[in-house]
Amino acid sequence: MAYTFNGGIHVEEYKNTRRCRIEAFTPVKSVAIPLQQHIGVPCEPLVAVGDTVTVGQKIGDVKEGLGCPVHASVSGKVMDIAERPTSNGSIVKSIIIENDGLDTPCPDLTPYHGRLSDASTEEIIRIVREAGITGMGGASFPTYAKIQSAVGKVDKIIVNCAECEPFITANHRLLLENPASVINGVKILLKAFGVHTAWLAVEDNKLDAINKLEELTAESNMIEVKVMKTKYPQGDERQLIFALTGEELPAGKLPADVGCVIFNAETCSAIFRAFSRGMPLVKRIITVDGDCIRYPRNLLVPIGTSIGDIIEFCGGLSRTPKKIIAGGPMMGQAQWDIRTPVVKGTSAILLFSNRFDKRKNADETCIRCGKCVRNCPMHLMPNYIAQYSRIGDHENAAKYGAMSCVECGSCSYNCPGGVEIVQFIRMAKATIRAEQKKRDALSPNQSKQK
Ligand code: SF4
Ligand code: SF4
Repeated sequence: MAYTFNGGIHVEEYKNTRRCRIEAFTPVKSVAIPLQQHIGVPCEPLVAVGDTVTVGQKIGDVKEGLGCPVHASVSGKVMDIAERPTSNGSIVKSIIIENDGLDTPCPDLTPYHGRLSDASTEEIIRIVREAGITGMGGASFPTYAKIQSAVGKVDKIIVNCAECEPFITANHRLLLENPASVINGVKILLKAFGVHTAWLAVEDNKLDAINKLEELTAESNMIEVKVMKTKYPQGDERQLIFALTGEELPAGKLPADVGCVIFNAETCSAIFRAFSRGMPLVKRIITVDGDCIRYPRNLLVPIGTSIGDIIEFCGGLSRTPKKIIAGGPMMGQAQWDIRTPVVKGTSAILLFSNRFDKRKNADETCIRCGKCVRNCPMHLMPNYIAQYSRIGDHENAAKYGAMSCVECGSCSYNCPGGVEIVQFIRMAKATIRAEQKKRDALSPNQSKQK
């Protein structure tokens, strides 16, 4: 029987690109590499305007604090270092590289020469950091820091291959076309943590990938495929942990607190690439889909490629989009500028007309049907939190557990009143965080609000 969690929703899958092989993206004229693509401190540039760079060359790094380097994804010349929009809405200093089309690799890149069995945890952490690997499922937390903070606390690794958001098939294609890279990445992680258990969690709508992974791990007594029920948000780490272990992860706690650490499938593949070829994270797989793009597909794109270039590569627009989303339709971010580049955490570019606008016939009034409460995987009362947020009563929004919301959007998806529940909850969370920050500044010893 497939593993699952309580609550959640069954969404229309729209996995239209599930049979679209991953295609290499044709070289673009230029890329814009943001100096911040991770949670933490922004990088400082290591190159200047006019410098020549090669593929995989480190072009920015963090001097101190949480963060990891960024690398050139094409070879060519640094044309500018300027502020540019990024997919989360912020403006970030970015390195603009004019592509010379030669794809010259950086001569300093070297694969790991020793045997994996001899690699120390510290060496693995160093390689992962130097490769600039961050969580590729969207969270963008530096992977080296995740390993560092969980070593000694966990007894199992969970590889998130759920890909539960509608439309996105990038991970599915990776599991079909290069499953060995994911499995080899998992072996490196097993060595880093010194543990003997890794679970590959795949939803049961990807039976071909499940068969392939089972075939490749049949001889392993450490790596096992776990079949998950197809339900949204199965890929949320709290739901994955509950489904597989029965452990609830309260707000403010980390997976390591219940003995688990979770990595995205493509992150594992990037770790293997850093080891086997010395190649940092300079490209990623994205799904391009939606009813406004002429030729939907899965692409391997250099980091820093603009949404505009991607649209052009996919044959242009078939109609004018009402919304462009970076990421999935449930948790992705709406884009306002097609110069915005693909970054390490971008899993998809989706272009929708108002055919997908669920609010068009609703008046945004709660009719107290209770659907959102039934669907919330965190067992919250989203209707109340949204209502308190709407009237600016953030104290009560916090009391009703706003900070436990994982922003999965299951509540908004089926709301017959068309209430933008998750948006109101996001607003409440932002205000609660800002108020907490103010309180902390006034009395730094005060205990933090959970
Ligand atoms: S689903 Fe919408 S209408 Fe129903 S209770 Fe929740 S907020 Fe109200
Ligand atoms: S309240 Fe938060 S966690 Fe619950 S369904 Fe809505 S978005 Fe998801």
